[in-house]
Amino acid sequence: MTRLLRSPLERYVLAVMFTGLASVFLSLHGAASPASTGAGLAVVALLVGGLAIGEFFPTRIWRGDGFRIYTFSGTFTLALVMLGPLWLALLVQISALLVEDLHKRRPPLKVAFNLGQYAVSITAARIAFALLTGQAIGGGSGHLVAGDILPSLVAAAVYFGVNVTLVSIVLALAEDQPVFPAVIGHLREEVVMTTTLLCVAPVVLLCLQFSLLMAPLCVLPILAVRQSARTSATNAVMAMHDGLTGLPNRTLLLHRAGRARDTHRDGEQIALLLLDLDHFKEVNDTLGHHVGDELLRLVARRLELAVRQGDTVSRLGGDEFAVLCPGVSDPAVAEELATRLVEALAEPFPLDQISLHMEASIGIACYPRHADSVEQLVQRADVALYRAKTDRGTMQVYDPKHDFNSVERLALMEQLRSGLHSQIVLHYQPKCRSTDGSVVGVEALVRWEHPERGLLSPAQFLPAAENAGLIVPMTMLILDEALRQVAYWRDDGLDLNVAVNVSARHLTDADFPPQLAALLASYALPGGALTLEVTESSMMSDPKRAAQVLRRIRELDIAVAIDDFGTGYSSLAYLRDLSATEVKIDQSFVQSAQHDPRNLAIVRAAADLGHSLGLQVVAEGVENSETAALMADSGCDLLQGFLILPPVPAVEVAEWCRRPQVWTRSLPAQITRRMAEQ
Ligand code: C2E
Ligand code: CA
Ligand code: CA
Repeated sequence: MTRLLRSPLERYVLAVMFTGLASVFLSLHGAASPASTGAGLAVVALLVGGLAIGEFFPTRIWRGDGFRIYTFSGTFTLALVMLGPLWLALLVQISALLVEDLHKRRPPLKVAFNLGQYAVSITAARIAFALLTGQAIGGGSGHLVAGDILPSLVAAAVYFGVNVTLVSIVLALAEDQPVFPAVIGHLREEVVMTTTLLCVAPVVLLCLQFSLLMAPLCVLPILAVRQSARTSATNAVMAMHDGLTGLPNRTLLLHRAGRARDTHRDGEQIALLLLDLDHFKEVNDTLGHHVGDELLRLVARRLELAVRQGDTVSRLGGDEFAVLCPGVSDPAVAEELATRLVEALAEPFPLDQISLHMEASIGIACYPRHADSVEQLVQRADVALYRAKTDRGTMQVYDPKHDFNSVERLALMEQLRSGLHSQIVLHYQPKCRSTDGSVVGVEALVRWEHPERGLLSPAQFLPAAENAGLIVPMTMLILDEALRQVAYWRDDGLDLNVAVNVSARHLTDADFPPQLAALLASYALPGGALTLEVTESSMMSDPKRAAQVLRRIRELDIAVAIDDFGTGYSSLAYLRDLSATEVKIDQSFVQSAQHDPRNLAIVRAAADLGHSLGLQVVAEGVENSETAALMADSGCDLLQGFLILPPVPAVEVAEWCRRPQVWTRSLPAQITRRMAEQ
């Protein structure tokens, strides 16, 4: 017993149970037999039957943010309470409960509570009814008269209030949450349905007294309430869940986040992890929507298995998921969880004849550490996710340093819109032949000279510009400026090609090739003066259309380079069909080739492949002479990188190009020898 009394929950359950036991004794005091109350035995039998059926066929109903089991026996219980004697109502209810609890093998503490709870509620209702009608508590009139209607409604209110309060307290204690808000919340949630059912009790009794043939009609209102509860549960489930994965949707996530905030304890954090799959769009576009859908379902299952009990995994839409983790001691714990999620996705996904690797970016924010409301929590996790995405495939905990939140981001885009013509500048980085170091062209790389923040790199504004629809006008400006610059250089005796990066939007725009032709004409430049750099992924959103647009661009003699080669999910057939002239092997392979033979093998294979398709091969991100030598040796035709020159303003790059190329001097002897031989 001392062990039992250790926690407030156990003490509470025992108190309810003993009060229930006392109620049973009270019911025996002055007890009458049903016959002596004058109630027809048939009426009693029907009520007992109704109670048992209600108790044994409960329904799952949706309450707030989850399912609860609801029994529809209350109408009959209350009818028995009004009819008296009290012991009969108690006996029937307790027997039904016992059978049900034992059948479901509920733990003893739960059974004890259930019995106590009903005994107390029923007795309280009977006391209220007896006091208002002048009947004995343990007795009964066996007959409902018109004057009993008001007392029966009061009894219904007492039964409802006591029952829901007792349950709310036990739930709050079990979940270690504040009691008072839980009670108020539950009373509010249950009031309409439960009081409707209870208020039907006098109607049922009056009908049965009138004629037993009314029995089937009495059940109709109860069935109607039950049916509407089920329908609204179905609707609520649909409104709160994602149809594809069955996961909670944004609405339910926010609801649960709100509840977690209301019940959150000092010293603890509620972590929100926003997760966005990398390259999902390409999977969808390349393999079809049914594969994309299946992938999302598999991702959902893996995430569910990776989280802790009590966490909510939700799909916010597209390839964006969220995990809500209440009761986290520290943001570091949330990071561990994010690592678990990443690991859960690391195993390849077996799909329709193909097995796919998925990576994700995760943004993490915690309440109250980073935010003081649920709305802010979501927004800050989003800021962290945005940061993770621009850093490619990593996780990020919210850091105010990176937060120019959505409002600020909008403001930033407004500033970009108005500063587009005056504040966007281009830096240029040379591409040099690996054989003799000579410069063949420059790549134009955009910068934003922000009046307050200084020089911003593309990573700091391009993703937002892309979202804000600014990328198209910006690229047209960049093209104009780059071509103007090249025309100027050519007049000045510097025969360079300029490469401009273009985004996916242009590749699906049939007007783009004529616009390019007009631009070239306005500077009297041949198509060969321009290279467009496109990424594999930018072609995937609409490969057919992109191939058409690229073909027309090639007809203008403009060169096309596949940028960041090796990082997307492209098929080799695309490479063949895309009429490209150049592949740029991504920096990640180039930079690690020196220490990782596997990446060196990839570089060699890509160079071979490029050559056999008749393409120029560029190694980008060359930072030291060892890498330069390795790339030259692996067959890369052109090199680009900080070793040669970082991106610099036009004046500097021109000056640099006119000087004799000294960067080759730092190369190991055998390469310079090879260069000299060529
Ligand atoms: P990218 O097209 O792959 O450009 C190469 C990036 O690598 C540039 O970064 C360049 O500064 C950097 N880089 C060059 N050599 C080295 C090196 O040796 N080591 C390292 N670590 N990095 C090197 P930047 O200028 O920050 O541009 C980043 C990306 O932004 C570009 O990647 C490109 O995708 C995009 N971008 C830049 N300018 C434009 C533009 O005008 N339009 C569009 N649509 N995208 C642009
Ligand atoms: Ca590029
Ligand atoms: Ca690149």
